[in-house]
Amino acid sequence: MDQVRVRFAPSPTGHLHIGGARTAIYNWAFARRHGGDFILRIDDTDPERSTDENTQAILRAMEWLGLDWDEGPGAGGDFGPYFQTQRSELYAQGLVTLQANDAVYPCFCTADELKGRREAAREAGGFAGYDRRCRAIDTEEAAARIARGDEHVWRLAVPLERDDVTFVDAIRGETAFPIGSLDDFILVRSDGTPTYNFATVVDDVAMEISHVVRGDDHLSNTPRQILVFEALGGEVPTFAHLSMIWGADGKRLSKRHGATSVEAYRDLGYLPEAILNYLTLLGWSLDDKTTMIDRDTLVENFSFERVSKNPAVFDTDKLEWMNGVYIREMPVEEFADRMSALLTAQGMLTGAEAEERREWLLKLAPLVSERIKRMDEIPSMVGFFFSDTVEFDDKARKKVLDKAGAGCAMDAVEAVLKGLDTFETESIEAALRDVPEALDLKPRIVFQAVRVALSGSMVSPPLFESIDLLGKEKTLQRLRQARSSATD
Ligand code: GLU
Repeated sequence: MDQVRVRFAPSPTGHLHIGGARTAIYNWAFARRHGGDFILRIDDTDPERSTDENTQAILRAMEWLGLDWDEGPGAGGDFGPYFQTQRSELYAQGLVTLQANDAVYPCFCTADELKGRREAAREAGGFAGYDRRCRAIDTEEAAARIARGDEHVWRLAVPLERDDVTFVDAIRGETAFPIGSLDDFILVRSDGTPTYNFATVVDDVAMEISHVVRGDDHLSNTPRQILVFEALGGEVPTFAHLSMIWGADGKRLSKRHGATSVEAYRDLGYLPEAILNYLTLLGWSLDDKTTMIDRDTLVENFSFERVSKNPAVFDTDKLEWMNGVYIREMPVEEFADRMSALLTAQGMLTGAEAEERREWLLKLAPLVSERIKRMDEIPSMVGFFFSDTVEFDDKARKKVLDKAGAGCAMDAVEAVLKGLDTFETESIEAALRDVPEALDLKPRIVFQAVRVALSGSMVSPPLFESIDLLGKEKTLQRLRQARSSATD
């Protein structure tokens, strides 16, 4: 294969969408697999909807996912600039080339005229695209009208004698579009700005793109773009169109289905490794059984042959499950780091405390990581370790504190723990083991009462370890405090 050069070309009209991220991953993996170049190009030609804030968010999300680009914003490269708004010169040159090749013509039809004729054609059951009226204007007259200042766009003169446009899509195989179905579409608008189909091709030629990998929502643009490649005398790249991602209802994934941007998933406590793994397998497979796949395995094995032609269904439960696997498998030091960062960001811990309490955090880490599927579950699960007072949630109050026996269980546990000299998980467990029997209460009643007294909730990290981590003083104080709220 010649030098592989692929590009991911998001429009900064929003944040990085889950579908866009998958497109980026496949481009990146293909480039890395073949020692090629992965280019990030910002398609910011829509001035009204493109914002710098969105561009920054896209770059951040790409970095977060670990999709490093060889050329593009921040990375430089020999084929820049990498923002379409900074490439107007190239589009102007492209138009000159097409004019010289007689591949374009100016069109003076107004929007109203076009609308009227289109409606008439539709009613008559004819071709609904542009009727090519201005193609008949001779060159001199057209030049005179332009010189006079008549408003005009530039359209591609579709080569009507050409065979149908066919190409072999790397995922979908042989794909054909009848030449007669393609109208003389606009390449340059009346204000001189290029349309997507023109700017993209000028850039793909100039950037020597070998493979265009993108969503199949662009499939109908591809025959048009092929005609532009040919008109410019550029080499037509290989195309690979990815099927769409659907929500559980079989409709295209959108805001209605919940979070759709990569950063929204980050904020919901998903790990980049899990998102990368999940999106990778949303349309591509290593074999028919592997569900956990890391970056290196992806790069070593990625190919378009194993990309599915069918839409993939986005399943949040599966993503959450996978995230839980990554959390559990994370080395304890790393989990402690990420947990500290999160708690610091939430103001529950200062940086200095995180350092001071490193050993303590390392002890807490596995107790938490084994019990969560998303990082955003951490603050509520461990908050009680950091607060001065305990707030009882309603369910815990009703189901535990108001239950007969809760009060005496707390008294008994307090008395036993007060007498303990070595305050460690094993000694705590040993000391408390016999309390339920001595009180003639079920262990569940006793230990749930203690759990609620210490954490305010019925769900917490394991009890004896939590008592150990909370420390003797705080434990006793909380038992006394909860005692006053308990029924008996
Ligand atoms: N800016 C286009 C988009 O975001 C790029 C499509 C393409 O890859 O050609 O859909």
